Amino acid sequence: MTVNWFGNRVALPMPAWAFALAGAAVFAAVCVTAGMILARKEYVCRICGCAFRTRWYRIIASPQHRGDRFLYCPGCGCKSWCARGR
Ligand SMILES: [Zn+2]
Repeated sequence: MTVNWFGNRVALPMPAWAFALAGAAVFAAVCVTAGMILARKEYVCRICGCAFRTRWYRIIASPQHRGDRFLYCPGCGCKSWCARGR
């Protein structure tokens, strides 16, 4: 694949995996940014009711369903669905 952004004189040979890598980098940046924003919010455990904050990488890694996230609760020490608080 050849990119002619700088005219025909300068031909940049760009393989297809470079575009895939750029897409993956943008996707990772969006995920990390969203995780860092959501890490400021508190989550409320549905089992023991304690509110806690968690690390941004745990928010990215945890599954979510209708605003709830499957997180490790430091209050009761088990993984459960936690509602997003403030
Ligand atoms: Zn709990």
